[in-house]
Amino acid sequence: MYFLLIGLIVPLLVAVWVASDAKKRGYSSAAITGWFAGVFLLLIVFLPLYLILRSRRPYYLKKNEATRLCPFCGKLFKEYVNFCPYCGKKLR
Ligand SMILES: [Zn+2]
Repeated sequence: MYFLLIGLIVPLLVAVWVASDAKKRGYSSAAITGWFAGVFLLLIVFLPLYLILRSRRPYYLKKNEATRLCPFCGKLFKEYVNFCPYCGKKLR
């Protein structure tokens, strides 16, 4: 019973973290649901996969483009802007 509980709670917590992390990175709600279900059901497969994919550049940024990370919402965007295009906060 104890192991069953751990086997359910750990994947659930990791899946919740993956879903909130994916949301912060601007994933669509379909993608977030997919990652949540995938990590919860097959943690061993989907967690490494997610960690590999998240370290790559977001699809909406071109290669070789200078980027910076918003300190408020955590999204990546083009450099040399004064306001974050996602949360609207002033950056400097
Ligand atoms: Zn922001």
